[in-house]
Amino acid sequence: MKVAVLALQGAFAEHERMLENMGVRCMEIRQEKDAYQDFDAMVLPGGESTVMGKLLRDYHLLSILRKKIEDGLPVLGTCAGLILLAEKLSGGEMPHLATMPITVKRNAYGRQLGSFRAEAECKGLGFIPMVFIRAPYIEETGEGVETLAKIDGRIVAVRYKNQTGVSFHPELADCRSIYRMFLQPLM
Ligand code: GLN
Repeated sequence: MKVAVLALQGAFAEHERMLENMGVRCMEIRQEKDAYQDFDAMVLPGGESTVMGKLLRDYHLLSILRKKIEDGLPVLGTCAGLILLAEKLSGGEMPHLATMPITVKRNAYGRQLGSFRAEAECKGLGFIPMVFIRAPYIEETGEGVETLAKIDGRIVAVRYKNQTGVSFHPELADCRSIYRMFLQPLM
């Protein structure tokens, strides 16, 4: 099994370290030709979604990766990666890959809660640690989207077909169970 990590910007190295520690082979997607290699799953890391969105367009990656996701490639989006997956961004900002029928609010926790840790139950996984950094949350879910976790009534983890999206950073909390859940169809 080989997992591709989008490596344009943000916390991609931390995901690679997690996956490699779990014995999973990784490759990086940095330019268009990387997207044509063979890989079995993909991780979209945290970082800055506006920057990643711009680079995805500049490097002609947006429609290739969208097509792969629509064709069933298992994908995990964390924090900014979740924002990349959202069909709608609250406030009318331009969406990016737009493959998941959810509305996401960026920087949703305001200044005081810019960054925090929590522990909450995630469907099928029990209680897991969650690290939030200028995190989004999910305001609305469309048909077929399963809510996996909430914090204070707000949705922070979802699944839709082959796509898993979380507001937090499993790679910074050493939380392997999220990766196992997303890789489950390949095991
Ligand atoms: N605030 C960032 C954004 O809007 C996301 C933060 C993160 O990925 N930790 O893209």
